[in-house]
Amino acid sequence: MNIFETDKTYVAGTYNRFPVEIVSGRGSLVRDVNGKEYIDLGSGIAVTSFGVADKVWIAAVEKQIRQVQHMSNLYYTEPCALLAKALCEKTGMSKVFFGNSGAEANECAIKVARKWAAENKGPACSTVVTLKNSFHGRTLTTLSATGQEHYHELFQPLTPGFAHFEAGNMEELKALCADGTVAAVLIECVQGEGGVIAMDPAFLKELSAYLKENDILLMVDEVQTGNGRTGQMYAYMNYGLQPDVVTTAKGLAGGLPLSAALLGDKVKNVLGYGDHGSTFGGNPVACAAALSVVNRLTDSFLAEVRQKSEYLVSRFTGAPGIESVSGLGLMLGLQTVKPASEVIKACMENGVLVLSAKSRVRLLPALNIPMELLEKAADIILAAAK
Ligand SMILES: *Cc1c(COP(=O)(O)O)cnc(C)c1O
Repeated sequence: MNIFETDKTYVAGTYNRFPVEIVSGRGSLVRDVNGKEYIDLGSGIAVTSFGVADKVWIAAVEKQIRQVQHMSNLYYTEPCALLAKALCEKTGMSKVFFGNSGAEANECAIKVARKWAAENKGPACSTVVTLKNSFHGRTLTTLSATGQEHYHELFQPLTPGFAHFEAGNMEELKALCADGTVAAVLIECVQGEGGVIAMDPAFLKELSAYLKENDILLMVDEVQTGNGRTGQMYAYMNYGLQPDVVTTAKGLAGGLPLSAALLGDKVKNVLGYGDHGSTFGGNPVACAAALSVVNRLTDSFLAEVRQKSEYLVSRFTGAPGIESVSGLGLMLGLQTVKPASEVIKACMENGVLVLSAKSRVRLLPALNIPMELLEKAADIILAAAK
């Protein structure tokens, strides 16, 4: 059996894989088993923030892996403490809970919201409201949080205590909050899986003011948008928000499983001993990797991310075959005239890996992708879309 057949036989059939086996790479170039090279504009879905096999990242991982690769959370390790400090200093948040996946970070946020509301507003206040067309993960509870019916159908009964409203429709939200049972609102500033849709700043401003007035938590899911992806450390910073909880994962450790729920002043002491935990959460190798990623997201580096974004937006806006460009920073969506799947296939044949999100072609390049690769990839995408 070749690898495709072995995988199809033994790996659960949850992923519709492309017929490509990636074996190695460096930066934004990856190579398949036949030696064909691709410019990678997917970054493992916004995970490899500094590309593949990046030297700084490898050094950070290697140093830690030779010291101690895992310790239980019964003991202190330096990378975990230093990463939590760095994340708080860069955001103004107060405390961090570490997990392994985006779904796990959102589970933590939901537990924090429930416990905070029970203690401060009474046991009837437990609902977490999210946006329609949102995506918050695949565990049963984060599936309930996800505002897309088609993910729900096969897995009833879901976790109760969730409601959804249309982005921009404050009246719908106010109706949900009228009986005082809403503990928190959880949003993505740019919906990723929902089709690379950036929220309207006026809506988020109004939402944030309303939640503050009514003592309802604002929780921002930055699993995909976080860690420099949108040209700011976190996407909420583009909107001037002050969330009570921020969750992040994908790009945080640049390619190792790590997630974080950042807790603001209001909720920093909600979780106490025994309230929550995770065996691998805060793993020293993952945290050392993340510390190296976070330390490189300087103001000047983020300015470069924004410049690269502007370059791509200007190349694609109004180009033949491109109906519209959406998103923020290096998280961009292209509504193409041709079906996205056709464009993605043509890109792949010509040596560029891109993703889809709903009907759009989705671009999530490494944040440090060199300009000449970005230019070359844009040429190939434009030719494929024409
Ligand atoms: C990917 C994603 C998740 C889920 O992350 P996992 O690591 O797959 O659990 C949650 N929220 C958003 C916004 C995401 O993009």
